[in-house]
Parts: sequence; C-alpha cells; structure tokens
Amino acid sequence: MSEIRILIIEDEQDVIDLLTLNLRKAGFALSTANDGAAGLRKAREESPALIILDLMLPKMPGLEICKVLKTDTATRHIPIIMLTAKAEEIDRIVGLEFGADDYVTKPFSPRELVLRINAILRRGKGEGVEGKKMAIGSITLDPSRHLVAVAGKPVRLTSVEFKLLSMLMQRQGRVQARDRLLNEVWGYESLIDTRTVDTHVRRLRKKLGKAANAIETVRGFGYRIREG
Ligand code: CA
Repeated sequence: MSEIRILIIEDEQDVIDLLTLNLRKAGFALSTANDGAAGLRKAREESPALIILDLMLPKMPGLEICKVLKTDTATRHIPIIMLTAKAEEIDRIVGLEFGADDYVTKPFSPRELVLRINAILRRGKGEGVEGKKMAIGSITLDPSRHLVAVAGKPVRLTSVEFKLLSMLMQRQGRVQARDRLLNEVWGYESLIDTRTVDTHVRRLRKKLGKAANAIETVRGFGYRIREG
C-alpha cells in the first residue's frame, strides 16, 4: 500500500508536535514546513495528498500561501485544510477568494481533524455525484461535466458547493436536514458542527444570485429546493 503524505505548514512547534503525533497514529506520512516559502517548495516537490496550512505564519501569511497553492497548476488539485483562530475569516477562507477546502479553528480536536482529513480524501477519490443533467428554474447542473449555470451563464462553484447543490436538486421539494447534508456532502459524523453547512449554503446562494430564491431555509432543520 502506498503511503498517504500530508504536508503541514505551521511555525509553532507544539502544534506541529500535536499534529505529528495524531496524524502518524492515524497512518499518514508527514512532511513539515515552518514558513510559506518552504511550504510552497515542498508542496510542488512532494505533491502531498493534502496540506494543513496555518493562517498565522511568519513572513508570508497563510491566506497568501493558500492563494498561490490554489492558482499554481502543480498544486491546485491538492486539498487544503486551514488552521485558524479567527472565526470571522472563515467565509473568505473557504470561499472563492482563497479556495481552501476546509478549516479547523484553534484550539482543535485532533480527532475531528483526522475525521475531516479522511472525509476530504474520500471526496477526492471521485465519490462524487453521478447522474443526468438537472434543471430547476434558471439553474442547470450537469454532473458529468461538473458544470452549473444560471440562465445559461456558468457559475464557478467549489466542489463542496457543487455537491451541496446537487443533493438539494436531486431531492427537490424534500427538506434536507443539516446533519444529513453534512454526512453526505462532507462525509462527517453528525456530531460535528452543522454551522459548516450554513456557511457553504450562504456562499452558494451568493454565487447563484437571484436564482438562489429556489433554496429555502427550513428554520431549525435544514434546507430545501422548492417545488415548481
Ligand atoms: Ca502559526
């Protein structure tokens, strides 16, 4: 079996130690970098399966590194989990602006982090949404080409937003509970924070513009795409 390598870009030794201990135990091979320059070099050279990137780094900030990784053709396919202490940055981190695949707020639970890593790696194996083209109102979604358009105009969605929209469209008219969406879109156990779902739905709505009216919030429960 080939090893699954994770690159950790972090400058605090105690966090590196905590990550090293827990990720080794979970069966991953690890590389570490203490700053952005070393991190970018290792990401290109080693092509890790996933990158854990700290937001607060000396010299080059984590978000800047994230942006570079997500635009470089050599590294843009590598999923990134950001470590952050700033809850208010989350929308920007996982949004189109920086394009991280997920985030964990410090102080984090190593167990939760491992769950998230495994979920992202599973997602990457192409356990995506299959099926035929769908259309609801002015929104069209083509699973095979991974395309979404509103009134014929393509909309750029992250893989999570795409999967979320697919789930809702496939089950038009039926309310989807947050924990169910979390489970199916992210592959998390339901004990993990369902606010993640709200964050991504908010981003998705923004990108869909007026067409997002089709997505209804069912208070205290979840989301639904309205019928007809
Ligand atoms: Ca740091």
